[in-house]
Amino acid sequence: MAIEQTLSIIKPDATRRNLTGAINERFESRGLKIVAQKRIHLTLSQAQKFYDVHKERAFYDDLCKYMTSGPVVVQVLQGEQAVTANRSIMGATNPANADDGTIRKDFGESVEANSVHGSDSTENAKLEINFFFADIDIVT
Ligand code: ADP
Ligand code: MG
Repeated sequence: MAIEQTLSIIKPDATRRNLTGAINERFESRGLKIVAQKRIHLTLSQAQKFYDVHKERAFYDDLCKYMTSGPVVVQVLQGEQAVTANRSIMGATNPANADDGTIRKDFGESVEANSVHGSDSTENAKLEINFFFADIDIVT
């Protein structure tokens, strides 16, 4: 067991429906601490760079456009095994397949507009946190 940090993004479908607080409650009630947070509007080139690992996927162009369709809230979550803990709080990529009580099941609109992003490994978490935050922005 180890204390980790992971990158979370509250996506445009969720900010549009004013769900930032409801989603943050899921993290906090499960023991994850929000140690950095900011609301930003991604440019297309920022979204393309962030999702570069998916650039060969059929959904890449649509995904990048969707991620620029409104504000997002980017945040660093910290806690015991934060990467896998957050993935379990989020639920499966497709809300239709997500377990009851997960963010994506309760709030997701579609496989694309699935309300939240979360890093999938500790290595990617470090890269993704550095993409959005400087050390000085993260207050533990
Ligand atoms: P996750 O976000 O669960 O890690 P992926 O990394 O596979 O899932 O995909 C990144 C994001 O791309 C998803 O969260 C979702 O917004 C979008 N996405 C994934 N698969 C599809 C798909 N088949 N059609 C449309 N959008 C998708
Ligand atoms: Mg992913």
